Amino acid sequence: MERPMSKECLMYKEDFEEFLARLIEGHSIFCPSGEDISPGIKKVAGREQFALHRGPSHFSFKHYFLPQTERLFSFDMASNKIDASNGELDDNKLVVLIGLRPCDAMAIELLDQVFLQRGPEDVFYARRRRRTRIISFACSEPRTTCFCESVGCGPDAAASADMVIFALKDSYIVKTITQCGEELLNNTGMNLDGVSTEKLGEREQMINESRDRLEKVFTSEDLNGKIMDFEASYWKQICQKCLGCGICTYFCPTCHCFDIVDEVAGSKGRRIRSWDSCMYPLFTLHASGHNPRPTRKERMRQRIMHKFVYSMEQYGRRFCVGCGRCVIHCPVNLDLRLVIKEIAEGK
Ligand code: SF4
Ligand code: SF4
Repeated sequence: MERPMSKECLMYKEDFEEFLARLIEGHSIFCPSGEDISPGIKKVAGREQFALHRGPSHFSFKHYFLPQTERLFSFDMASNKIDASNGELDDNKLVVLIGLRPCDAMAIELLDQVFLQRGPEDVFYARRRRRTRIISFACSEPRTTCFCESVGCGPDAAASADMVIFALKDSYIVKTITQCGEELLNNTGMNLDGVSTEKLGEREQMINESRDRLEKVFTSEDLNGKIMDFEASYWKQICQKCLGCGICTYFCPTCHCFDIVDEVAGSKGRRIRSWDSCMYPLFTLHASGHNPRPTRKERMRQRIMHKFVYSMEQYGRRFCVGCGRCVIHCPVNLDLRLVIKEIAEGK
């Protein structure tokens, strides 16, 4: 989290194998779970389990910091006892997240704003975050659904990363961004060379090619002003085909709304935190029966305005990193990029 501290060195493919092996020895390593639909991210026990995927992974690293369902504590009303122990969080071993793309790393920076920097810290998030180091990989093959450049990110962005790795044809450029990243690299004891001008040129070409593939779907100017029109008729149009399934929010690396419930059986129970979604009608239903967002129109408007307008007012940042997951996974192909374009055009 500490910045700036930037140093670059070269790692050949065979050194990278050794680097991973040494990291795995001293830390808990997590990487994306791949293209399948297994849960979130996985703990890596051996080098063979690490795989780098094209573009952003199926799930984001939100799963690690804010699990889909989490027990906050258990209680027993008969004995008046509370048990707040948490096996996973009580383990203070340093965790390294490796293999996330710059958009997902930037999403962590945004979640930090919500859970650490405004108001009281979320203790569960804070404990995970403070023991975690982040090694991101610059993006060489963005997907056709990626639009990170339109929202202030990019294939070589370093937001929240302690170390960024650029995968070249036969080698890697390792760039330490923070003091923590520098220590992580030093602790592996790797003896690495500096980066030649030729390799720097190769990297520049790789990033430029990535940028060329990223369609600039909208600009900040498009977003300013027009999207602010709370009463505009386009909201009714945009929500027409939405099913209200909430998949867009569950896959989004920056959506962070949750609900808290007590599950009780007899005198014993546990308090659970689970993801929630602004796309559900019950999300804002009052006990009186009144619902301030009674239809999909209000719920869709809330989702878009929260990401692009309210977050600017609260945090000075847009809460979209352009990963494209909501575009990929929406069952009715409701494409956020087209939505923003339509809004910008005032349709
Ligand atoms: S709104 Fe869509 S594109 Fe933007 S960060 Fe969330 S899932 Fe990714
Ligand atoms: S994933 Fe698509 S259909 Fe489902 S709530 Fe989001 S926009 Fe609507």
